[in-house]
Amino acid sequence: MNAINPATNEIVKNYIEHTSKEVDEKINATHEAFLNWKDVSFKERSKLLKKTAKVLLQRKQELAELMALEMGKPLKQGIAEIEKCASVCEYYAENAAVFLQSEEVKTEASKSYVTFNPIGVVLAVMPWNFPFWQVFRFLAPALMAGNTGVLKHASNVPGCAMAIDALIRESGFPENVFQTLLIGSKEVDAVIEHQHIKAVTLTGSTQAGKKVAAKAGSLIKKTVLELGGSDAYIILEDADLQKAVEICVASRLINSGQSCISAKRFIVVQSIADKFIEQFKALMAAKKIGNPFETFTDIGPLARVDLRDELHDQVKRSVAAGAKCLLGGEIPDQPGAYYPPTILINIKKGNPAYEEEFFGPVASIITAKDEQEAIFIANDNSFGLGAAVFTEDKIRAEQIASELLEAGACFVNSLVKSDPRLPFGGIKESGYGRELGLYGIKEFVNIKTVFIF
Ligand code: NDP
Repeated sequence: MNAINPATNEIVKNYIEHTSKEVDEKINATHEAFLNWKDVSFKERSKLLKKTAKVLLQRKQELAELMALEMGKPLKQGIAEIEKCASVCEYYAENAAVFLQSEEVKTEASKSYVTFNPIGVVLAVMPWNFPFWQVFRFLAPALMAGNTGVLKHASNVPGCAMAIDALIRESGFPENVFQTLLIGSKEVDAVIEHQHIKAVTLTGSTQAGKKVAAKAGSLIKKTVLELGGSDAYIILEDADLQKAVEICVASRLINSGQSCISAKRFIVVQSIADKFIEQFKALMAAKKIGNPFETFTDIGPLARVDLRDELHDQVKRSVAAGAKCLLGGEIPDQPGAYYPPTILINIKKGNPAYEEEFFGPVASIITAKDEQEAIFIANDNSFGLGAAVFTEDKIRAEQIASELLEAGACFVNSLVKSDPRLPFGGIKESGYGRELGLYGIKEFVNIKTVFIF
């Protein structure tokens, strides 16, 4: 398994994959660790997770450099990611005991209540785009709930995967409560089949989600799926246009455009479309693309050359189907997986830019005749992860966000972002189940009824 620097296409390091025997031993050991860990007090778990937060912060520069090397994330964004990981550790260390307190329910019994018991070893199949955040978002609540975990990380970030393994040990957690399995995706089915794997969480493409969920479903093992998105941002006539443009561009370019909750489709009402496009183009064109280690870089290389080529193919297919490319759209003549900020307009239903997820710095601007049509277009998509609406009419905006948009999270005059305090996840082909907040920690527990007559 090679870690390849996407800025240069050079091999950073080769990692030896674990054999099936080693994987089996590691899962058994993680199960053994669970048998003790499930009885450890919340106080002790919390102390250890707070230590993890400290270690993360001490190491943030080094970990950000590892991400820059393995998947091209600009350094300043990598540091922010590690700080967010520390915050999710702090959040669950502070709140898990309250979230998982038994709940009394009045019935005819002398005593009846609900407990939230840990279930065992959870398998996490994770992607490369936020190599630390995606893992800690799962791991912090899992450990606080008394579960243990094994990680199958994306094959292009083995160094990050091993760094997380080491961080948990260094924080003083008991041996084997968390382990990284260095394996390819072909080995995942056998892991799901293992008797000690009790549930699976996957963040990644809808295609990978379908395969993993089918396998886990055939064994009646629970899954949480956080899959792709093609988030629509609706810009209405009375929006503060300058603010909306800034937020839209920032959202489209998060992590060089490789985020499930990046805004991907901008649905603008006709009357302000020309102005929006002009300002949007000026801001996209001003972004600095380059070496992720340079502080001025806004957009690094994409994570892999094949992903960049796939994105370029989507742009070419969109143009062939009638879209107009207003900015970018050409692979730069330089080594590495770079792709420039790109804007597509004149997009009609059926065009790839209308239907598909574009995982890179490519914005699709769709014009709608009015608010009603804008909402229709936003929902006319197979994904349902996030959505946003921009308008000065907060009452109308709230109704659109809470009732009319089909998505797991709807924001008003803001970019969609994840927050440890708020549940995160999608509907439709964006997946099911929730991470983060109170709901996230309750996904992988046995919600047990106790009835004492
Ligand atoms: P994948 O969905 O293929 O990879 C995500 C994780 O799933 C990786 O650990 C991968 O392992 C694993 N995986 C892939 N296929 C299977 C399978 N059949 N069984 C079990 N595990 C599997 O993402 P890609 O890296 O190929 O990116 C492709 C597209 O996925 C992107 O363009 C984007 O649209 C979407 N994506 C969405 C993300 C999100 O945050 N929701 C994150 C990343 C990608 P391995 O690396 O070994 O293949």
